[in-house]
Amino acid sequence: MGVRLPIYLDHQATTPVDARVRAAMLPFLGGIGEKFGNAASQHSFGWVAEAAVDRAREQVARLINASPSEIIFTSGATEANNLALLGVARAYGLPRHERALLSGGATGSLSPRLTAIQDPASRGDRFVSVATEHKAILDPLTHLVEEGFDAEILGVAPTGLVDPRAFAAALTPRTLLASVMAANNEIGVLQPIAALGALARERGVLFHTDASQAAGKIPLDVQAMPIDLLSISGHKLYGPKGVGALFVRRKGPRVTLAPIMFGGGHERGLRSGTLDVAGIVGLGEACAVAAEEMASEATRLLDLRDRLLAGVMARLTHVVVNGDLTQRLPGNLSLAFLHVEGEALINAMKDVALSSGSACTSASREPSHVLAALGTGLAHHSIRFGLGRTTTAEEIDFVIEALAQKVPLLRASSASWEEASRGPAPRWFP
Ligand SMILES: *Cc1c(COP(=O)(O)O)cnc(C)c1O
Repeated sequence: MGVRLPIYLDHQATTPVDARVRAAMLPFLGGIGEKFGNAASQHSFGWVAEAAVDRAREQVARLINASPSEIIFTSGATEANNLALLGVARAYGLPRHERALLSGGATGSLSPRLTAIQDPASRGDRFVSVATEHKAILDPLTHLVEEGFDAEILGVAPTGLVDPRAFAAALTPRTLLASVMAANNEIGVLQPIAALGALARERGVLFHTDASQAAGKIPLDVQAMPIDLLSISGHKLYGPKGVGALFVRRKGPRVTLAPIMFGGGHERGLRSGTLDVAGIVGLGEACAVAAEEMASEATRLLDLRDRLLAGVMARLTHVVVNGDLTQRLPGNLSLAFLHVEGEALINAMKDVALSSGSACTSASREPSHVLAALGTGLAHHSIRFGLGRTTTAEEIDFVIEALAQKVPLLRASSASWEEASRGPAPRWFP
């Protein structure tokens, strides 16, 4: 039994850097004999760096069926999301108080930006998104609401899925953009992106998807789906941290963004700042490896996840799957162990790196907003199992055995367990 401890089962938080990715990056982290140049420089050092960035741009584009000129490198998905939302707001939007200024006819005191707006009626002020989005979507939207825009945040079913009819109903002539994540980072649920993208396209609303968890895990095609803006994070697909990309559609429709950073005009003026050549090379290689191995890896991870679920269900009762089990990332399982505190179980499972249903950023142990949105009241009992490229069947068996030992121990000290254990076991998925 050669399981190496601790076991890493938190691949939705971050992934280890693939050895091929690391090898591709190393020359770009080197000194004078190596490839340290600035991609903007007009000499051989710069050209080497520029060629590497070009190649990475192609690798990223290929993963999502985009063209290389549609890829903007960023510091990660947080920045990509902010650029998409704030960039659309500033390029196409007109917040309420500015609209009021324009219709008030107070031309003398208007800013140059407002004076330049020809047709206020054509400018929207609404965004549509979903309650289970990452904070890197919800927080920029809150910021935009403070600036005078509206954001309609749709709820989800207990499965975690958004209803396409509710989505369609939320799109009004004043909606600038709808943003719906491709795969959820806590419960792995896959939203019906193709259907939602088509609904947005029909109504002339721009469609953004945060694909941090989906890219490299499930097929994505910005043409077929259709998607206008898409965010990618390097460290969620076996690339380095601190690098990501935003796909910005260039035709049918051509999406215009206003930058949120100003400076040297890199990345077509959309993202000033010297490019992180090593990180970008790593992101590109990570995308190439993922494109190559996605299908076989998905099958392997599904088998491992089935093994985990079947093993847990065979050994324990009163366990509930959070979110839809079929519309889900292959490498994700989120389980609620009734009559057990998720935090306590994680602490008891000390040889396994897991994440609970509470926001660990605060000492207050707020329930996760994602699990709360499911409406099942199970956030405090929940644990996320994030399987990935290095996960083995032996590791899964170790985890099943550990759960089978620890959960009954914790339940033995739970006041509610004794009574509940005599009643019928609950349905185990929504
Ligand atoms: C990790 C993650 C992010 C943030 O990505 P960074 O590259 O770490 O900024 C955004 N959205 C989702 C869904 C994520 O999983």
